[in-house]
Amino acid sequence: MIVPPGGTIGILGGGQLGRMLAMAAARLGYRAHIYAPGASGPASEVAAHWTQGAYDDEALLARFADAVDVVTYEFENVDPRAVARVGERVAVHPSPRSLEVSRYRPAEKTLVAELGGRTAPWAPVPDGRALAAALATVGTPAILKTTLFGYDGKGQARIDDDDAGASAWAAIGAPATAGDQVPAILEGRVAFAAEFSVILCRATDGRSVVWDVPENVHRDGILATSTVPSGEAVQRLIPDAVAMTRAIADRLDHVGVLTAEYFATDDGPVFNEMAPRVHNSGHWTIEGAVTSQFENHVRAICGLPLGATSLAGRAATMENLIGDEAGRWPALLAEPDAKLHLYGKTVRPGRKMGHVTRVGR
Ligand code: AMP
Repeated sequence: MIVPPGGTIGILGGGQLGRMLAMAAARLGYRAHIYAPGASGPASEVAAHWTQGAYDDEALLARFADAVDVVTYEFENVDPRAVARVGERVAVHPSPRSLEVSRYRPAEKTLVAELGGRTAPWAPVPDGRALAAALATVGTPAILKTTLFGYDGKGQARIDDDDAGASAWAAIGAPATAGDQVPAILEGRVAFAAEFSVILCRATDGRSVVWDVPENVHRDGILATSTVPSGEAVQRLIPDAVAMTRAIADRLDHVGVLTAEYFATDDGPVFNEMAPRVHNSGHWTIEGAVTSQFENHVRAICGLPLGATSLAGRAATMENLIGDEAGRWPALLAEPDAKLHLYGKTVRPGRKMGHVTRVGR
């Protein structure tokens, strides 16, 4: 189904990804209607409509669904059942199935293994008592991770030796899960040469495009920089990683942007995690690519042809501005070629406040 320009795109979530999606939508003549639990957020300043509501408020979600032409989401901590109910009234892209798999670590790892890809060794940890057995299987060094709601290194604790298990379990404070879901997994620590992500956009007709693959550097579990082209350790793994990401998107019949993060190792790409949405490691595409991840996501969910993803320059680097780093804006604006993005948030330590992109010509 095509949603022509002039239509209204419903977005679950009102953070900076919603803000950048709404801006890309506006450029193509669409209106954005945000649904989020807060009274306002980074997306509220650039969206035509904002509904404040809980993600489990079925009546309000139904009203929202009836007011828009297509629904998408900008973060994955939405209940897939709520999204499925919205999907009974209006088209939802990506599908609740994509959401369900990407938000639950065991499901995404199992899918990748089924498709012949590699992940870090891992074991489910249903409760604190099961941690010792998981440590015996996976070994150390390891990372204990919550299976749901993890982002920017939150819900993770490093375990360097078996004695650190108890404190790690207390540190992650595993959240409640539904049905047979486990609250945590233990993952072996991968000795990687680099980290990178494949940002793919798949259209309703099944065709997909990928951008140049950025090499990502994390600091304290939070993305610090994304650079294209990536270095040698990543370059040689790109064909395999792109093929895997495409296989995942095809299997899920995904529509829109899908981002998969990988570790580069001597033995090939090791899948870390994925997100059924536009991604921080793709922000450089706004100035650094012919079509940005945000615009192509809008095009995909509206049933329009996708735009070219080629580099707009020789190279591009995106640097995140975390916490009070946003205060560097005068110096960044004094750099004629630096493109500054500020999300309009109040400063908190560890909070993503904005980013700056430099495109090499
Ligand atoms: P995640 O939220 O799973 O993406 O983890 C955040 C960051 O922690 C990753 O980008 C890596 O830098 C690091 N990390 C996560 N899992 C592992 C692992 N199994 N081995 C080594 N580093 C990891």
